[in-house]
Amino acid sequence: MTFSVASIRKDFPMLAEKINDKPLVYLDSAASAQKPLQVIEKERQFLCHHYAAVHRGIHRLSSEATAMVENVRQQVIDFIHAADSEEIVFVKGTTEGINLIANSYRHGFIKPGDNIIISQMEHHANIVPWHLLAGQIGFDIRILPIDNDGKSIFEQLDRLIDSRTRLLSFTHMSNVLGTVNPAKQIIAYACQCAEQKAAQLHILLDGAQSIMHQMIDVQDLDCDFYIFSGHKLYGPTGIGVLYGKKALLNVLPPWQGGEAMIDQVSMTLSEPAIINITYEKVPWRFEAGTPNIVGILGLGEALRYINNIGYQQISAHETALMQYANQRLSTVNSLRLYGSDERQGVIAFNLGEHHAYDIGSFLDNYAIAIWTGHHCTLPLMDFYQVPAMC
Ligand code: PLP
Repeated sequence: MTFSVASIRKDFPMLAEKINDKPLVYLDSAASAQKPLQVIEKERQFLCHHYAAVHRGIHRLSSEATAMVENVRQQVIDFIHAADSEEIVFVKGTTEGINLIANSYRHGFIKPGDNIIISQMEHHANIVPWHLLAGQIGFDIRILPIDNDGKSIFEQLDRLIDSRTRLLSFTHMSNVLGTVNPAKQIIAYACQCAEQKAAQLHILLDGAQSIMHQMIDVQDLDCDFYIFSGHKLYGPTGIGVLYGKKALLNVLPPWQGGEAMIDQVSMTLSEPAIINITYEKVPWRFEAGTPNIVGILGLGEALRYINNIGYQQISAHETALMQYANQRLSTVNSLRLYGSDERQGVIAFNLGEHHAYDIGSFLDNYAIAIWTGHHCTLPLMDFYQVPAMC
């Protein structure tokens, strides 16, 4: 298949919209991507012709809907090259996936006096859950620093990891700088340091930005957890995926309680009552309540959409666009670019003394949508000593 920009644009109805009578130029996909008709239509079809609750009825619609949802789980396995369907947990998005792990770790996985490592370029979603947990348990958070090019100085892991380090949690790709962390190399190095120091280290990769730019093979990366959101991947909001190595998920306690995650519940009428609960096996143990059925099916369609185009084609097109953008931006006076020339997917900049919000509003007059502000990475803004970026 050849890559036809015109035909792909036609798949995205939003790209035909006008704002201020000008054609929309949507450059805000890192925040959330527009949706192709295939995803929209899949959701409509399901709601109009197949809708039912899953995992609880034996009537035909319910069992068909359950099979559809479980098929998407299978699609996710293939998409990120996981080993088993028990490794794929549906969550609301990256934020919820990280919070799930943080909350499950509360129960004995991380103890007072332990420590974890996150990087200086993390999105708040990979800072705040750990800060909350550290406040409750009493462990240290250590920071893997970045250099002026916005690259992680991962050699420092040797200094940062000690026998009490329990987790290294970092982003695969920066939503601001476009830095692609060499995750496989970093993980191998971290595991080597952990072995030398007899640390029982787990690795969590925030895949919110990498999932749409490169083919992911979680087994090859050898991460313990990989988490992403559907809405950045042309899928719906409110759905995402937590991949976890089966052996690890199997021993993690559930974090939310309710229907679908239990096996048996019984109670006595004694006072106090004795309630006995046994839990479902993974992944359902982590999926309490009625799931986002429509979102899951939309996600499945988004994965199919990407597979049909192919990462090679997507990547080649992105590389060409990035070369063109870098070349044109280098001719703009007083434009400051952040990160290194090897950035992928996004370009962060400021223009002279103008505030990023002013640039964003100015471009909006021309129907050009960009992401402005601190990009949910205030520590990164501090590092570059700016309040905001475009
Ligand atoms: N991590 C990174 C690197 C992100 O870019 C984002 C969203 O921008 C998130 C986490 C949070 O994703 P969500 O809001 O979909 O949970």
